[in-house]
Amino acid sequence: MDLKITCIPGDGIGPEIVAEAKKVLDAVAGKYGHVMHYTDILMGGASIDAYGVPLTDEAIQTAKDADAVLMGSIGGDTTTSPWYKLPPNLRPEAGLLAIRKALNLFANLRPAVLYEELAGACPLKEEISRAGFDMLIMRELTGGLYFGERKTVEENGIRKAIDTLTYDETEIRRIAIKGFEVAMKRKKKVTSVDKANVLDSSRLWRKVVEEVAKDYPEVTLEHMLVDNCAMQLVKDPAQFDVILTENMFGDILSDEASMVTGSIGMLASASLNDSKFGLYEPSHGSAPDIAGKDIANPIATVLSAAMMLRYSFDLDKEAEAIEAAVLKALQEGYRTVDIMSEGCTQVGCKQMGDLLAGFVN
Ligand code: NAD
Repeated sequence: MDLKITCIPGDGIGPEIVAEAKKVLDAVAGKYGHVMHYTDILMGGASIDAYGVPLTDEAIQTAKDADAVLMGSIGGDTTTSPWYKLPPNLRPEAGLLAIRKALNLFANLRPAVLYEELAGACPLKEEISRAGFDMLIMRELTGGLYFGERKTVEENGIRKAIDTLTYDETEIRRIAIKGFEVAMKRKKKVTSVDKANVLDSSRLWRKVVEEVAKDYPEVTLEHMLVDNCAMQLVKDPAQFDVILTENMFGDILSDEASMVTGSIGMLASASLNDSKFGLYEPSHGSAPDIAGKDIANPIATVLSAAMMLRYSFDLDKEAEAIEAAVLKALQEGYRTVDIMSEGCTQVGCKQMGDLLAGFVN
């Protein structure tokens, strides 16, 4: 298969970790008979330095022309970098918002996996972390409270702020379909999270999710209130497979799920649109404090590349080969400094990339 991939190395550690992800992708391509066509574009600080804007129209077009986008991370040190003296619409992060909008990425996927080998980093009690967990939060990204009408008014000398939470059934249906499709590639369980005991938008959410569920009889659907879900994530995270939820609930729950893994350098993510197209990136930022030192953990980006193979190209076996390579590296005791523990072998970013590429089978 010919895979056309636009890469956004970005800023900080971005170029280092994307280089390692490409190395691993190339190893997979070699083993499984695929051809990778990469085109790099600039975004964030790198684009500001070259063109004065965080994302050019040409770069957007290059991304649109690809089958998928693989990104490192963008942004610099927000207190010292000159990029943050620019008006907000010209800062690095504006590039990210612009590309998400241009590509109509409405579904955000954030897996949270606790590897047995890294259980020590998990802040939960050992009796809970012992079971490990492997969940994925499917968050609606372009609707709800963050995109509703808002205003602040003054009535009779009292200031009042209003934010509006709106979802229509088409917005709910398309994210629910993504949730069930992803569950079909996993353990076939969807936990739909809402606040249906209070909110009308949640009651509609629940109805539409149930309608969509009829097309996926193999998937078990359960509903959970968001407050209960926040508790269950720390009490019994192993119960979850796919958590399907709206924008604000997903924002909060995905950060909570990430934190319980305890390893920011290991967390992949994807944002998808209606087609198979997606943008794949690690959940962490550009880590300017460690940029250029060859010590960044490339695994989150490598696992994002695995998600790309699975969700944009339906290359499930190839994705599993990458995930197995990551597991093997951990089992053999190789660690970058952020996940280092006693008795393990510390390696740099490049060396971890070489190991992972070598472990691809
Ligand atoms: P960060 O995630 O970059 O770093 C937080 C801490 O985690 C740092 O100590 C860093 O060294 C460490 N870390 C992060 N990734 C690591 C990795 N792969 N290996 C080893 N250690 C790692 O968060 P921050 O410092 O708040 O943000 C830095 C910049 O990144 C800011 O400009 C921010 O806006 C940007 N950012 C970008 C994205 C994105 O591109 N999607 C997301 C978040 C933050």
